[in-house]
Amino acid sequence: MKLVFLGPPGAGKGTLATLAKENLSLVHISTGDIFRANIRNQTPLGVQVKAILDSGSLVPDDITIAIVKDRLQQPDALGGYLLDGFPRTIVQAQALSGFEQLDAVVNFVLKDSEVVRRLSGRRVCKSCGTGFHLTSLPPKKEGVCDKCGGTLMQRPDDEASAIQERLRVYHAQTAPLVEWYQSRGLLKEIDASPAPETVMKVLKELMGR
Ligand SMILES: [Zn+2]
Repeated sequence: MKLVFLGPPGAGKGTLATLAKENLSLVHISTGDIFRANIRNQTPLGVQVKAILDSGSLVPDDITIAIVKDRLQQPDALGGYLLDGFPRTIVQAQALSGFEQLDAVVNFVLKDSEVVRRLSGRRVCKSCGTGFHLTSLPPKKEGVCDKCGGTLMQRPDDEASAIQERLRVYHAQTAPLVEWYQSRGLLKEIDASPAPETVMKVLKELMGR
């Protein structure tokens, strides 16, 4: 099964990807992960991508497309995968359709107000990186990490103004993709507001598993 996951920040795509790995035996392919791994290992690609990102630019479509194409040809991806973070543009979607036949594009739908609630409650330990949530996974003691006693902080990305900007970018990027895939009969929409296990059950049923 070959899937693309679309969904706003906070829709739980990371958790859903892990569940899809277990439930549907799919390899999780995230362009963000591939870029980060290349930068960490200082590969030629990583050096190139880091220079682009450091200059404040976006990684151009041709580089991103080449990376994804290469990754999808690795043996572990041949049995099925879910793509996360790609495609982000119509150009990327068109390129992908040239070398891969997708089974479905799954759009996890979540109201903006719920995205804000989920993201604004996130806290992370400064020392060990453990994640918490003010309402769904609160630390035993306010502002203190359960694991190591470190101080909890809010990522700049999860501050109110940053969330609004992430949502704006998300909607601007995703609306054309949703339309593009809808017109090709590939789009499946799933309500992402229940718990991830429930969302996964719906996805499995939708895919006939
Ligand atoms: Zn900690």
